[in-house]
Amino acid sequence: MREHERDPESVWFEQARWDPELVKDLCVFTTHTPVSAGHDRFSNQLVRKILGEPRQDSKAGEQPYLIHGIPFEVVDRLSGTNEFHMTLLALNLSRYANGVAQRHGQVSKEMFPEYEIDAITNGVHVPTWMAEDFQALMDRYVSGWRKDSFLLRQAVGIPPDGIWAAHQKCKARLLEYVREKAGVSLDPEVLTIGFARRATAYKRADLLFRDVERLKHIARDAGSFQLVYAGKAHPRDESGKDLIRRIVRLSRELADTVPIVYLENYDFSLGGLMTSGVDVWLNNPQRPQEASGTSGMKATLNGVINFSVLDGWWIEGHREGITGWSIGPRPSKASRGAGSDEADVFDLYEKLEHVIVPTYYKKRSEWIGIMQNGLALNGSFFNTNRMMLQYVTSAYLRKLD
Ligand SMILES: *Cc1c(COP(=O)(O)O)cnc(C)c1O
Repeated sequence: MREHERDPESVWFEQARWDPELVKDLCVFTTHTPVSAGHDRFSNQLVRKILGEPRQDSKAGEQPYLIHGIPFEVVDRLSGTNEFHMTLLALNLSRYANGVAQRHGQVSKEMFPEYEIDAITNGVHVPTWMAEDFQALMDRYVSGWRKDSFLLRQAVGIPPDGIWAAHQKCKARLLEYVREKAGVSLDPEVLTIGFARRATAYKRADLLFRDVERLKHIARDAGSFQLVYAGKAHPRDESGKDLIRRIVRLSRELADTVPIVYLENYDFSLGGLMTSGVDVWLNNPQRPQEASGTSGMKATLNGVINFSVLDGWWIEGHREGITGWSIGPRPSKASRGAGSDEADVFDLYEKLEHVIVPTYYKKRSEWIGIMQNGLALNGSFFNTNRMMLQYVTSAYLRKLD
């Protein structure tokens, strides 16, 4: 923004207060979630009470309120007449709006059909989320990757032994942390599945445990695996807290067949340890609630293979058996809703038993190939360099029609 435009005394600023078109010219808006709690709404009465000033010169028929000098009728028109809807306000005052993955763009358009909503898929910052051991590997084999994340596609040419060695170092670091914090010794040679997100119902942290007998059977007959969980619940989210209790209880019951650890205090540093230190990154939210998801992108940068429902970014990043694995059906226009838990659970167990566990133990070179494909095909795309370029060309430099 130019200096005079920010000066509250300037004529321009006075006009912008009254002219939504001038404000629009300055704003772009990114909507971040289809979950309704992410779209704040307030009653008009509350907004008048808190932001309103009495209007001295009001004529008959006019509402006797101003909000920052703007008549309430104007605010009403921009934020929805029945309630003060923050997302509508933002959509009406922006010249460009987008969702954070291609699918989320579509879902947002269905939520707000009168608006043009584009999509720019999220990305993660490579130097922040790629573990040191993988950074060292890239320095050796992919020159220039620090300046140009697109070059990560050359990771397909790295010797598989190098990928595996870097991965096992990351895994050792996570297992050391687990030993220290939870007092549990996990085995670095055992397939390790990670899951970390906010503990809230739609993320379905306990989906893997819908049929505990089947899970035990897979561990006994197909091959062993161990689970590392993390994630906090909102203090007022009782069902989220129940999810954590349930998994902690199961970690005691299943200690002999499926070792489970629930780590406390999920934060950025633990996020980095987990998305580099497990073998498989599990994500199974109810569709279509995952706007994008970013932890799976962090995993991909560290050769950790995604095993996820087809929602958010994974619809774009997934190629079955090439970059990772899906859980449940492909989204279709007709099945916009949540889909069934049963279909997802069935697919989850089938793939775990017949594809993931056997590939990990019996086809190690195929496994490393998938790690490498994820890193090269998805790491080179789902990063902040590509994302920023798209924001610049699609949003910031876009001219008003
Ligand atoms: C990356 C990250 C998130 C977001 O992960 P999603 O997959 O987008 O839900 C949340 N919390 C922490 C600590 C993270 O590192």
